[in-house]
Amino acid sequence: KHGKNRLCFFSQEVLDDSERSSELILRLQESVEHGCAGFTLLYQPQVRAQTGELHGVEALLRWNCPEFPGIGPAEFIPVLENCGLIRRVGKWAMHEAVLQAHRLQQVFPGLSMSVNVSYKQLVDLDGGVEENLLDFVRRELEAFPLGDGRLIIELTESCVIDRLEETAQLMERFHQLGVGVAVDDFGTGYTALGILKQMPVDVVKVDRSFVQSQNRSEFDEVFLKFISLLCHQVGAEVCQEGVEDEDEYRLVLAAQADYIQGFWFGRPMTVGQLIERFEKKQ
Ligand code: C2E
Ligand code: CA
Ligand code: CA
Repeated sequence: KHGKNRLCFFSQEVLDDSERSSELILRLQESVEHGCAGFTLLYQPQVRAQTGELHGVEALLRWNCPEFPGIGPAEFIPVLENCGLIRRVGKWAMHEAVLQAHRLQQVFPGLSMSVNVSYKQLVDLDGGVEENLLDFVRRELEAFPLGDGRLIIELTESCVIDRLEETAQLMERFHQLGVGVAVDDFGTGYTALGILKQMPVDVVKVDRSFVQSQNRSEFDEVFLKFISLLCHQVGAEVCQEGVEDEDEYRLVLAAQADYIQGFWFGRPMTVGQLIERFEKKQ
């Protein structure tokens, strides 16, 4: 049917996959239509490396759908991105995170809130960089002020590098609103040190692959120290992701990271759990 002597194979697995993904798209659309019903945010603590005190949290998206139990953002976010739903869900998440940060700051003064922003939320249909999100964030912060640098947007390294100059300009405007900028998953794919030169980066989040004890090499240890040194020289702070045990914690301390986010200090949790866990310690 395809012509030109092309041959293609049918497999039940592929059919199951495509059935699953069209079902997934439908359910996600339904959720979004209902005001992002079923979406929630969990908050993972980011602690000061030296003292273990709570410094901030990262908002991480969850989606509760009976048809897809236990599905994680690694699976549903690319789908949201591909079918153009990420902007609406992204705005919902931004609103929710700012609101909760505003409340949490009454318990933890000065707490920072990091929100993941997908590349597709920054790019408009013509492929240029848009400012809709900027205006949205400005209005949110007028309604729920958080203080300078307390709201941080996290962009992945690969997202930034694709359009470094335009992204840098837009991030400059976020900066003018008092919003901080973090580069996520640093050290994966591209080692784009130029980002540090051209963008107003406040926080570098070093990818967790550099601390995982199983197959860590001497290179990883040197890399961690080097990144800290470089970041501190250019006025950025370092947050190490994925610290899971004491050995990894020691390594990160030796490498002079400023903040730590990882299961060793807390998994993503609800606001109630966060307060219960950290309130007394403050
Ligand atoms: P990310 O931004 O790198 O977020 C950190 C991920 O690492 C989270 O996975 C977190 O649960 C996990 N993690 C934290 N500490 C540890 C640790 O010690 N060990 C291990 N093995 N994992 C750890 P999660 O929540 O499944 O999120 C996966 C990814 O989905 C995120 O990676 C982020 O890229 C994306 N994501 C999550 N929420 C949002 C959102 O609201 N918007 C967008 N655009 N992306 C989001
Ligand atoms: Ca992140
Ligand atoms: Ca990351």
